[in-house]
Amino acid sequence: MHVPLVVLGGGPGGYAAAFLAADLGMEVALVERDERLGGTCLLRGCIPSKALLHVGRVLAESREMEEWGIHFQKPRIDLDALRARKEKVIAALTGGLATLSRRRNVKMVRGSARFTNSKTLEIAASEPGGASQTVTFDHCILASGSRPARIPAFDVGSPLVMDSTGALELADVPQSLLVVGGGYIGLEMGTVYAELGSKVTVVELTDALLPGADRDLVKPLQKRLEGLYEAILLNTKVVKIEAGATSVKVHFEGPDGPSSKEFSRVLVAVGRRPNSDGLGLENTAVKVSPKGFVEVDGQQRTADPHILAIGDVCGEPMLAHRASHQGKVAVEVLHGEPALFAPRAIPAVVFTDPEIAWAGLTEQEAAASGRTVEISRYPWAASGRAHALGRTDGLTKILVDPETDTVLGLGIVGPGAGELIAEGVLAIEMGCSARDLMESIHPHPTLGETVAFSAENYFGLATEIYRPRADASKE
Ligand code: FAD
Ligand code: NAD
Repeated sequence: MHVPLVVLGGGPGGYAAAFLAADLGMEVALVERDERLGGTCLLRGCIPSKALLHVGRVLAESREMEEWGIHFQKPRIDLDALRARKEKVIAALTGGLATLSRRRNVKMVRGSARFTNSKTLEIAASEPGGASQTVTFDHCILASGSRPARIPAFDVGSPLVMDSTGALELADVPQSLLVVGGGYIGLEMGTVYAELGSKVTVVELTDALLPGADRDLVKPLQKRLEGLYEAILLNTKVVKIEAGATSVKVHFEGPDGPSSKEFSRVLVAVGRRPNSDGLGLENTAVKVSPKGFVEVDGQQRTADPHILAIGDVCGEPMLAHRASHQGKVAVEVLHGEPALFAPRAIPAVVFTDPEIAWAGLTEQEAAASGRTVEISRYPWAASGRAHALGRTDGLTKILVDPETDTVLGLGIVGPGAGELIAEGVLAIEMGCSARDLMESIHPHPTLGETVAFSAENYFGLATEIYRPRADASKE
């Protein structure tokens, strides 16, 4: 088969690219080894984890209602029903993608693809005994994604030692769970299991949870997690894992020296690796970085004129919305448009409770680059809506260029931060000033107001925050 455009990988990067190509009238094939479309995000990532986090949030809220005088009985958890409900979410979405690809006449090719040269893919059948096929193309958009990073010493061949895919299967609610890695997955899945009833311990190599995130934002999360989790071990290394039939013995090296403890299960969540190996890229001119990321320019072009790459396989941050955005840029480039992937803000959201979200410049990035910024923090203790929700632990902070008042960054911690951050993305992309945020009327009482109020606070004019006037003594 020959197609002008083939997309390799049916995740959020790949299917967004293939669908746009079809919408623009291009003839396109989509190659996916999995029997369902959706990739990591839909089948074993964003969507199932957020479905389970929703359940965890409801469990937490039902407990929190006690201080409002509302008492629920202890929940009875039917794991089979919970798993089935989560699968229903996935099935609805992946089924929708299959319908959409059919309607758009995207040629679906099932199998595992490998480049034999810059214009040819050999596709091995996913099912045993199936026939392999050859697809030649003018252009290929590589969207092969990523997989969990593995630490060889932890590969003890026990089902009790899981990666994120295993954790999302929810085989049981272990009495105790050790999460190795205090990053996105560790904290999100740790929250799910802790809410379902496991005693969760998180062990993190560095001196902080979510090492790349803003400390002001992590602080309220860490405080809450200290109440939810059994323990948080920072600056601690797992040196050995010994799996038994019903438990796993884990040996640590921490600030207080060596120690060991038994856990019912272990989740290893220490990052992800790009799927750039095993693809036959050596048969093309594509360049791969020492970390395994496919190197691309601002138009998603690789060093091979026939191959573009998008999403997790071509770098960080490994996020679904970045992958799909890059997919659209790659298609527009092939369609002859002057498209460029040059965002001012790629939002990041950690869907814990509270959620953490940020967009644009962070305080740490400003400090590292020596850029002068003014930071305005708006504590949710000053928000009527936060009080009504019983969640005054949140914070909204904006980073502003003091010369021009331009909004450079927004960070939010609190319930719903992931929804609220979209306003910051728009503000940063549009080059809004803090005055634009302040003077745009926000609905009351909402948590969204805290974005406008943080801008008011930048000018020292926040209604709910008293700041003594610098020139008050002159009066
Ligand atoms: P992928 O989604 O990984 O898709 C790649 C596809 O290519 C796969 O379907 C794979 O089967 C296929 N493929 C690979 N090699 C071949 C081959 N040789 N032949 C044929 N097919 C092939 N991101 C967010 O933005 N928000 C979140 O809330 C979020 N939560 C997450 C939670 C978890 C537990 C995990 C693991 C990830 C999460 N992510 C989240 C990250 C997100 O899933 C990824 O950034 C996103 O899926 C990347 O999209 P992609 O299209 O680049 O690759
Ligand atoms: P991560 O990079 O977010 O966190 C990994 C953590 O493990 C880091 O804090 C790191 O210091 C720590 N670590 C590394 N080696 C260790 C070791 N030997 N012992 C203890 N700690 C160790 O990676 P992740 O949590 O596996 O998630 C992978 C990626 O998937 C994320 O970076 C993100 O791009 C994506 N993701 C996004 C979301 C979201 O958007 N909400 C959710 C889940 C995953």
